[in-house]
Amino acid sequence: MNIHEYQAKALFATYKIPVPKGNVAFSADEAATIAATLESAVCVVKAQIHAGGRGKAGGVKLAKTRDEVIPFANEILGKILVTPQTGPEGKEVRKLLIEEGADIQNELYVSLVDDRATGSIVIIASTEGGMEIEEVAEATPEKIIRCVVDPVLGYQAYQGRSVAFQMALPKEVIGQFVKLLGNLYRLFVEKNATQIEINPLIITGDNRLIALDAKVGFDDSALFKHPDINELRDLDEEDPLETRAAQHGLNYVKLDGKIGCMVNGAGLAMSTMDVIKLAGSEPANFLDVGGGASKETVQQAFQILLDDPNVKGVFVNIFGGIVRCDRIAGGIIEAAKEVDLNVPLVVRLEGTNAKEAKDMLAASDIKLIVADTLWDGAQKIVAAVT
Ligand code: GDP
Ligand code: MN
Repeated sequence: MNIHEYQAKALFATYKIPVPKGNVAFSADEAATIAATLESAVCVVKAQIHAGGRGKAGGVKLAKTRDEVIPFANEILGKILVTPQTGPEGKEVRKLLIEEGADIQNELYVSLVDDRATGSIVIIASTEGGMEIEEVAEATPEKIIRCVVDPVLGYQAYQGRSVAFQMALPKEVIGQFVKLLGNLYRLFVEKNATQIEINPLIITGDNRLIALDAKVGFDDSALFKHPDINELRDLDEEDPLETRAAQHGLNYVKLDGKIGCMVNGAGLAMSTMDVIKLAGSEPANFLDVGGGASKETVQQAFQILLDDPNVKGVFVNIFGGIVRCDRIAGGIIEAAKEVDLNVPLVVRLEGTNAKEAKDMLAASDIKLIVADTLWDGAQKIVAAVT
């Protein structure tokens, strides 16, 4: 789960990570009220969406006087921002962060992420803040500093000093930087984060470190331990079909292709997507109905697939183990009664009670194409949608 910059900054503040003074606004009036409470007349008006790259897309404006805040707020609120991270459809701006302008001397980059190779949290830092870090890594990999934190020992101050020296930070900020990394590490571990990114982390004219941007992602599977974090969820920022799927315990990720897939087991779902690509088309989603899917879950899954306007055909690929094939067939028959099945449907059922399932489907009046193998099914659905 991701949160907004203003929420991440509030969380930073509770971990003694320095952030600019500011607050969230839902209207231009509120923006003006907040600006009036700030000490500096120079304010920054920042679009709050779950995506980076806002600066270049016109979502971050520097108001030289408090009076400029209102027109900037009016300009950004309600705007659809398109950044490299939003996808071509963009994201609507529903709220703004109004904060004090900072005196930027230097822009740095710091992030913490899970490193699967070492099973540890890794600190990534660079002097090249304020830019796309992927581009820095590509063009000048020597400017990216990595520091793996031993999960048993935890973060050690010497590691922070080592990173600071490699970045040649001015001596006035080294102590602050070492503490900042320690606080970030503590936040990461205590709140089960999966990623924290500050880009830019700035050094001000009077040598203070301030997090000017803040991005934090959390491990969905650990959210039950953190009701305070779970409360920060913003469903407006999430795909409505994915939200619905999660409510029904379905493992669903929306993609851009036109073949809806209903599969049991993550591994089989991945191979199904691969084979669809091999057969010359693209999957519209990843969907694992899980090991214990009931008739109702299957029905819900079907509805979610068909509610995606991109879906031009559905491929059901079930290997009956714990989920019996006849249960899936029952779900398909129920779903077909409820929804208007106006796209081709290819069904491949194999394993426990496959024969009973095929008989049930044959006895129903649903229009479907039966497939015998994964490859056969993929070819049939691709042929049916093209
Ligand atoms: P992003 O583009 O979505 O990553 O948004 P950021 O929060 O990183 O803001 C983009 C850029 O706006 C930053 O890299 C800064 O250069 C600039 N910016 C943000 N806040 C301030 C500020 O207080 N003063 C000044 N001068 N620039 C700022
Ligand atoms: Mn940024």
